[in-house]
Amino acid sequence: MALKKSILWFKRDLRLSDNPALVAAAQSGEVLPVYIVEPLSSSEFERGSASKIWLYHSLKSLNSTLNNHLNIYTGDPVKILLDLTQKHQIETIFWNTCYEPWSRENEKRLIENLKSQSVSYDFFNGTYLWKPKEIKKNDGTPYKVFSAYKREAWRLSPREPLEIPGTLSLIKDTDNQTTVEHLKPDPVPAWSKKITSFWDFGESAAQKKLKDFTQKGLQNYKKGRDFPDHNNTSCLSPHLHFGEISPHQIREALKSAKESDTPKEDLHHFFSEITWREFSCYLLYHFNGLPSDNFQSKFNHFPWEENPAFLKAWQTGMTGIPFVDAGMRELWQTGYMHNRVRMIVASFLTKNLLIHWHKGRDHFWDCLVDADLANNSASWQWVAGCGADAAPYFRIFNPVTQGEKFDPEGNYTRKFVPELKNLPNKYLFKPWEAPEKILEKSDIVLGKTYPKPIVDLKKSREKALSAFQFLKNNPLDS
Ligand SMILES: Cc1cc2nc3c(=O)[nH]c(=O)nc-3n(C[C@H](O)[C@H](O)[C@H](O)COP(=O)(O)OP(=O)(O)OC[C@H]3O[C@@H](n4cnc5c(N)ncnc54)[C@H](O)[C@@H]3O)c2cc1C
Repeated sequence: MALKKSILWFKRDLRLSDNPALVAAAQSGEVLPVYIVEPLSSSEFERGSASKIWLYHSLKSLNSTLNNHLNIYTGDPVKILLDLTQKHQIETIFWNTCYEPWSRENEKRLIENLKSQSVSYDFFNGTYLWKPKEIKKNDGTPYKVFSAYKREAWRLSPREPLEIPGTLSLIKDTDNQTTVEHLKPDPVPAWSKKITSFWDFGESAAQKKLKDFTQKGLQNYKKGRDFPDHNNTSCLSPHLHFGEISPHQIREALKSAKESDTPKEDLHHFFSEITWREFSCYLLYHFNGLPSDNFQSKFNHFPWEENPAFLKAWQTGMTGIPFVDAGMRELWQTGYMHNRVRMIVASFLTKNLLIHWHKGRDHFWDCLVDADLANNSASWQWVAGCGADAAPYFRIFNPVTQGEKFDPEGNYTRKFVPELKNLPNKYLFKPWEAPEKILEKSDIVLGKTYPKPIVDLKKSREKALSAFQFLKNNPLDS
């Protein structure tokens, strides 16, 4: 008797272990594994440049673990899946669900079509610990405050991770001409070389990173996570975004770390950050305007300023504020930026420069290897002050004192702003205050070898605070 055939539609779950859709597909018979690159016009948020590089390498790795049986297509996923269903006599389509608005729309369209054609389907929760629709306040409305959300979420036990299916009988669509190589960014941007030398891609790299982190970085996470030159953050964000690892597997690793005496406060704090990821997705699910609309509508009247020269200086790490420039250059060189520094550069853009958070969001979207619609949108809104449970607007990070506190030896700043490497720590974060003699001795000519600050931090802070007053006094305030 011929085996039943199914499609496994890979989305943001580019792994074999702990993949509920894969397990279900494998149990049902032969599997046609599919990845579909959607047309760029289908979404306002076209995949960014760094993200495309990651996707290419990640699919390459997945294809190799599937013994070159990954079938890649480009186009409308619904049409492609329906065509494949006909062509290969598919009985069921399986996938792990995603929550980006365009993904939800596609999944909805697919389901409607499958129902009308009597093809069965099943989808699973493979990307997040908790399903966003399952967590609600007593009155049935969604949470808007993280601490309350977390309390509720932590009471629910997520499922245990799943093993890779023992047998996998894979189908190759031999007529299909598209291969992973068609997704190689062409021309390969020069900066992508730096990104590829900095990261290892794919499921086994993600597992190794988790292991190294739980053995070496997790101890002291709570304190160390704020210092960009410490190895106390996991750098798992791009692996999590593309689903090379699941949050369930991370939770499992934390349980083992607990048994090996990792301090409770570090475990809790790390799991709390994983819960922030869940909360961002939860917000996106319940408030699908999150990527573009101010969560607090009173910010619709905020007096943002247009300043292309300032924006360019910020993007290129040439603001003359060393800690900000170090962060922006880290992003440019590695496709990543440490969380503490992300908050500082975002605060500098939206508050000291009064530039709209959309501009920062877009730059991060293009440059981050972990660019994630939910996390990026929620985090930008949080820093700008207009988000759910946001930082109060008047909390404006001072990039000088932040640098002194969180990069006390200056290792991080000197690494990414080498033109300041000879400057003593005392002036490293504020070279404009250094006496002429010291600048000369350090081979620095401000305005030539390194920019003068594009704004005065104190004055720009005051200006931001008065803009905030405008917001408070605006009669259109809601
Ligand atoms: C302006 C701004 C933009 C951001 N954009 C993104 C983005 O596009 N994609 C993204 O994954 N993160 C984003 N973040 C959140 C955070 O900075 C990164 O998740 C984190 O720096 C990734 O490094 P890590 O994996 O070493 O984190 P760890 O400290 O090791 O944390 C583990 C995991 O928890 C999650 N996490 C940690 N902090 C947060 C947070 N504040 N919000 C949501 N999830 C979190 C991430 O998945 C991360 O991989 C942004 C933060 C800011 C301030």
